[in-house]
Amino acid sequence: MRALNAADILAVWESARDYHPVDQALALLAAADPQRPHDELAALPLGQRDAQLIALRQNLFGDHLPGRAQCPQCHEAVEFELSCRALRDSRPATATTERILEIDGYTLQLWPLDSHGLAAAARTSDIDIARHALLARCVRSARCGEQHLNVNDLPEQVIQAVAQNLMDHDPQAELLIDLACPTCHHQWQSVLDMAQLLWTELAARAQRLLIEIHTLARAYGWREDDILALSEARRAAYLDMVAA
Ligand SMILES: [Zn+2]
Repeated sequence: MRALNAADILAVWESARDYHPVDQALALLAAADPQRPHDELAALPLGQRDAQLIALRQNLFGDHLPGRAQCPQCHEAVEFELSCRALRDSRPATATTERILEIDGYTLQLWPLDSHGLAAAARTSDIDIARHALLARCVRSARCGEQHLNVNDLPEQVIQAVAQNLMDHDPQAELLIDLACPTCHHQWQSVLDMAQLLWTELAARAQRLLIEIHTLARAYGWREDDILALSEARRAAYLDMVAA
């Protein structure tokens, strides 16, 4: 994974700003790892995708990760602080390979939930179609005895078992954090959407960069490329002088 510079941040923001969040996450990973084929990134189990997003976030903006949530009991706004390193260290390993699930005479070949599946499910607002799209991605093959089956033909109890198996084998597909309310002392778990969080931070950084380019170009007549090539420290120093 390479570090993204100012020009990279603007480029990925510009190309992916209208994408679906699933594809924005992939665009971020692709920018940090341009040699890696898109299909391979999209096939990363979600737990691994998020682990890479956390590493990228740490590279870009540092270890300290501030967040906000609302207490579900008293509705007070709760601010919290996370460490990217601690988040990465606390994550159990994710199964990355196909595995076999045998249940009630059915034999299924399963693949962990990945961005392909999320993207397919996101294309519809119908919950049944979305569920089918996810299953179609995760169930690589299904048979009962010698008979090969389509995902549509699986009985409900087998589908439930598949869903449970997917959760058990990629526990970090959902990144849960423990929160406590300082006002009413209620404790709860919240899902941290790393993809959305990192994209929001990157978009804000891109907006700041555009303002910096605008300010320096107007003051000195420099080209965008030259301004982006400046180190953060030099850019900040010139911006201070312009503002003085
Ligand atoms: Zn509370």
